[in-house]
Amino acid sequence: MSTNSANLEGQVAVITGSTSGIGAAMAESLAAAGAHIVLNGLGDSSEIEALRTRISERHGVEARYHAANMLNAAESVDLVEFAIREFGRIDILVNNAGIQHVSKIEDFPPEKWDAILAINLTSVFHTIRAAVPHMRKQGRGRIVNISSAHGLVASPYKAAYVAAKHGVMGLTKTVALEVADAGITVNAICPGYVRTPLVDGQIADTAKARGMSEEDVVREVMLKAQPTKRFVEYDQLTGLLAFLVSDAGASCNGAAYPVDGGWTAQ
Ligand code: NAD
Repeated sequence: MSTNSANLEGQVAVITGSTSGIGAAMAESLAAAGAHIVLNGLGDSSEIEALRTRISERHGVEARYHAANMLNAAESVDLVEFAIREFGRIDILVNNAGIQHVSKIEDFPPEKWDAILAINLTSVFHTIRAAVPHMRKQGRGRIVNISSAHGLVASPYKAAYVAAKHGVMGLTKTVALEVADAGITVNAICPGYVRTPLVDGQIADTAKARGMSEEDVVREVMLKAQPTKRFVEYDQLTGLLAFLVSDAGASCNGAAYPVDGGWTAQ
C-alpha cells in the first residue's frame, strides 16, 4: 500500500489514550489523512461518543472506540485484536496513554509507581507484541510511541514517569531492530510541555512539591526548561507523526524525535 503524509486512505490506526489531549489530536489528524481510527481511553461515555462521531463524520472515516484499561495486559492486547476484528488490519499503532504523579521520592506512593510503569511502559510492550505479527503479515507497519523529553533527561519529583519514559526509549530501539527487515518502523516522539489536562494537573502538584505558586511553576519550572518559552502545540506533534507514518519515513527507525523547543539540547 502506497502512502504519503496526506493520504492514509484504507489504513487503520489504533491510538491508545485518545480521548483527551495529544492522543485525541493525533486521532483527529490521522483521520483527516483518511485512516480509520480505533479510539481508546478513559472518560465520560457521552463525551467519548461525541468525539467518535465527530471524527467519523468530519473526515468520512470509520471510527470505533475500545475501552481497554492500559493497566490490564489482556485488555491492552484486546485493543489491538479489536482493530483486527473490526477492520481486518492494523497499519499504525500510536502508544500514547499516560499518567503522571509528582512527588518527592521519600513520599512517592508505591501504588503510583506501579500504575505509571504499567500504563506508560508495560502497556506499550503488550500492544506492540500483539500488533507486530499482523504488521509482519501485511509487510508494513508504523509504531510510534509517545515518550517525552523525560525519556531523554530527568527532572526531580517524577521518579516513576522518568523511569517509565526512559524504558519506552529502550523498548523502541529494541523492537525497531527486530522488525526493521519487515517493513515496520518503531520510533518515539519526545514532546516537551504541551498544555493538556495532564499538564494542568501537574501544575498544582508541582507547586506543592516545590513550595511555589502555580504561576511560578509555569514560568520557572515548565517553560524555563523550554528555550522557546512556549508550550508545544498539538499540530507540531501531529506534523511529525504524519511524516513518521508516511512512506518518506521508512528509513526513520529506532529513533527519538524531541519536539521540545530545545529543552534536551541543553
Ligand atoms: P491527557 O491526560 O490529556 O491524556 C491521557 C490519555 O491517556 C487520556 O485519553 C486518558 O484517558 C488515557 N489514559 C490514562 N490512563 C489510562 C488507562 N489506564 N487506560 C487507558 N487510557 C488511559 O495527557 P496528555 O498530556 O495528552 O498525554 C498523552 C501522552 O503524552 C502521555 O503518554 C504523556 O506522558 C505524553 N506527554 C505529554 C506531555 C505534555 O506536556 N502534556 C509531554 C510529554 C509527553
